[in-house]
Amino acid sequence: MCGIVGYVGKENAVEYLHNGLKKLEYRGYDSAGIAFFENDELKIIKKAGTVDNLFLYIQNTTANIGIGHTRWATHGKATDTNSHPHKSFFGKVCVVHNGIVENFLELKNTYLTDIKLTSETDTEIVANLIENFYIKTNNKLKSIFETIKLLKGSFALAILFDDDNQNIYFAKQTSPLCLGISKTGNMISSDILGLDAKTIKHVDLQDGDFGKISKNKIEIFDKNFIAKNVKYKHIQKNKATATKQGYPHFMIKEIFEIPQVIKNTTKIYLSKNSPLKKINKNYFDFVERVLLVACGTSYHACKVGEILLKNYGYDATSQIASEFIYCSQTITKNTLCIFVSQSGETADTISAVNSAKKYGAKTLCITNIVSSNITKICDYTLPINCGTEIAVASTKAYIGQLVALHIFAEYLYNQKMVSFKKAKEIYLNYDIKTDEKYKKISRKMQKNIKKLQNLCNFIDINNFNQQIKTLIKEVINAKNVFMLGKNLDYVTAMEAALKLKEITYINCVAYPCGELKHGTISLVDQNALSFVFATKKELLPKIIS
Ligand code: GLU
Repeated sequence: MCGIVGYVGKENAVEYLHNGLKKLEYRGYDSAGIAFFENDELKIIKKAGTVDNLFLYIQNTTANIGIGHTRWATHGKATDTNSHPHKSFFGKVCVVHNGIVENFLELKNTYLTDIKLTSETDTEIVANLIENFYIKTNNKLKSIFETIKLLKGSFALAILFDDDNQNIYFAKQTSPLCLGISKTGNMISSDILGLDAKTIKHVDLQDGDFGKISKNKIEIFDKNFIAKNVKYKHIQKNKATATKQGYPHFMIKEIFEIPQVIKNTTKIYLSKNSPLKKINKNYFDFVERVLLVACGTSYHACKVGEILLKNYGYDATSQIASEFIYCSQTITKNTLCIFVSQSGETADTISAVNSAKKYGAKTLCITNIVSSNITKICDYTLPINCGTEIAVASTKAYIGQLVALHIFAEYLYNQKMVSFKKAKEIYLNYDIKTDEKYKKISRKMQKNIKKLQNLCNFIDINNFNQQIKTLIKEVINAKNVFMLGKNLDYVTAMEAALKLKEITYINCVAYPCGELKHGTISLVDQNALSFVFATKKELLPKIIS
C-alpha cells in the first residue's frame, strides 16, 4: 500500500504534495517522489527514504500543478531510480502508480521491445504504453483509455504530460483513489486524508474510472469512455485532518485512544443498526468451519478470534493471508472465511478474499474503513469504528478488532448458527423462530457487550505509561528478548513481539511458555529478557514452572 497525491490550483502545489504525502505516511512506504511544472518544465525529484528526507531536496520551489507518491516497493528494490514518478522513454509522460501490474513483462515484450527502461518497476511500462498510444493518437485521454484496457492487476495512477501544465490525468482499478474539490483548486489522493483541509467535497472513484482534473474542472469517464456525473460528498472537518493533538507521535496518541475505541466499537453493535442485524439469518446455516485470515497485527487478532470461537465449540483456524492459497483447496461453500484488515486495502488479504470467493466460501470482513475495497468484495462487513489510525504499527485498531471478534463469537454462540458438521442438525433442532427466544438471545448478547463497554473504564493508560517507562532501560540493553504466554496470553506475546521488532528494531521472539524448553531455552542467559503475560489465574502454576 502506498500513497498518491496531486494538486492543481492557485496555491503552491509543492506544499500540498508535502502535506498530503505526510498524511499518507501511515499507509507505509520506503521511498517518495514528486513531479511538478516549474517554468513550463516538467521536473521530477525522487528519493529512497522518508518524505521529510525527500523534501530536504526540494526547497523554495513553487508550482501550481504537481503529483506526489510514497512507494512501497513491489517490483525492484527501494532505490532512488525505482522511486516514482516514472518518465516514459521520450519524456512525454510521467506517472505515479499504486498497485501491481501483473502482466507488465508480457506488455513490455509485446509493445515496448524498442524501449530502454531505466527502472525495475512495473510502473515504467505504464508510462511508456501511454506514451506509445499518445504518439499514435495525439489524444491524452484516449491514450490512457487504451493503456488501461491492457493492464491486468491493480492500479491507481496519477499522470502528467510534458505538454500540458494545466491537467492531472488519472485512472483507477482496485487500488483506491479519490478526488477532492478545494477552495483553491482540485486534488487527487489515495484517500481522503491526503486531501488538504481546504477541501470541501470529495468523491471516491470507481473501478474503471479515468479522467482529468484542472484548476476548476473535473472530468470523469467510465470504462466505456462515457462521461460520468458523480455525486460529491461534503467532507466533515475532522475526517480530513489528522493531527497529533499534543502527543509526540501518532502511535502514542492512538494507544491513549484505546479506551474510547472499546466504547466506540461496542456502541455500533449495541445500536439499533448493529451490523450483525444486516446478516441474513440463514447465512450461517450450513457453515462447517471458520477460517480467519489476515496479515501482521490483524493476523494476531485472528488468533484471538480462533481461540474465542474454539471456546464456543466451533472448528476455527487462522491463516496468514499470503499463505492462504496453499490451503484454499480445503475451502468449500460451507467454509466461513473472516478477513481482518485495518485499512481494508491490504493486498495479500484482498487476494485471499478473491481466492476464497472462487471456492464459493462465505466471506465476512472486519475493518476500520467501511468504504475500502475489502467491504466491496466480502458478503458482509463488521466495522470497528476506531477513527483514523495513522501509525503504521497498529494499536487501537487491534483492540477494535478484538472487540468485534468477541462480539461476533458471542453472537454466533447465542444464535447457535454454526457448529461443524452438525450444523444442520443443531440448527434444525433449535427453534429460534419464536419471538421470545430471539428476545432472550439478544438480551444476553447486549448484556455481555455492555460488560465489554464498561471495560474501558478500568483501563488506566497513564498508569501503564509510567510503569512501562521504568522498563525501557532493561529492554534496550537486552541481547535476546522473549515474549511468553499461554493460550490467549500467547497471542498477546506474539503481538508484543511484533510491536517491539517493528518499533525498536530489537530482535524478539514469542513463545508459548511450555515450548520454550524445547530448544530455544539455550538462548536464555543473563543477557536475555523475558516478558511473561499471565492474565489467567488458572494457568499461573504452569507458567511459573
Ligand atoms: N508496483 C509499483 C512499484 O513497485 C508500485 C508499488 C506501490 O504501490 O507503491 O514501484
